[in-house]
Amino acid sequence: MSGWKESSEAVESGADDGLSPVSALVALGSNLASEWGAPDETLLRAVERLDAISERLTVRAVSSIWRTLPVGESVGPAGQPIFANAVATVETTLGPFELLAALQEIEREARRVRKVFWGPRTLDLDLILFDELVLASPTLTLPHPRAVWRDFVLGPACEIVPDWRLPTTGLTLREHRRLLGENFANFESTAFWTQVVANGDVNAFGQNV
Ligand code: ADP
Ligand code: MG
Repeated sequence: MSGWKESSEAVESGADDGLSPVSALVALGSNLASEWGAPDETLLRAVERLDAISERLTVRAVSSIWRTLPVGESVGPAGQPIFANAVATVETTLGPFELLAALQEIEREARRVRKVFWGPRTLDLDLILFDELVLASPTLTLPHPRAVWRDFVLGPACEIVPDWRLPTTGLTLREHRRLLGENFANFESTAFWTQVVANGDVNAFGQNV
């Protein structure tokens, strides 16, 4: 996205605690004006906040902004506004829960209001990958279980880190995006999603969608 540059600042390599930095992938989404402005402006500010929130975290690269129809929704007066989505890579010596807490702090700063599941939101920040960590805890699942089903995550991610691999499948983000395209073709895209949402079904990765 214009105005967003790859950071050239070096990460201080964990001088405090001896940890070496790891790379992580963060997804950003907004379809409602926030304290910080319209969705595009909100994503820009969120990336700036992320870069500034800790000396132990540096934003490395940011995708362009993708526009996506809300899942299971019509667009227009009766439906939700179109989403603005992007992804960013970071290098950090924070732990995964510290990084999640930082993302949630930024969501709070943007005064995220969420009334409905998958409803409009001012800012949603998800942790997609954290190094090669595989984790299923009550507050944090890694890799993010729905990322491989979301072209608004895989599309922007393939702009900046197409060769990163999911530790669970061993496949790259580029390979997952190709598979997703094939699945969408099979499942007739929106109709499939609407049905899955309505049925509270379970996807092929065994995760509730
Ligand atoms: P969603 O992003 O799926 O629409 P929320 O943003 O409201 O939903 O997240 C709800 C909860 O998901 C958070 O309180 C957080 O603890 C949990 N969570 C589990 N795994 C992750 C992850 N990888 N990234 C972000 N949140 C996660
Ligand atoms: Mg979220």
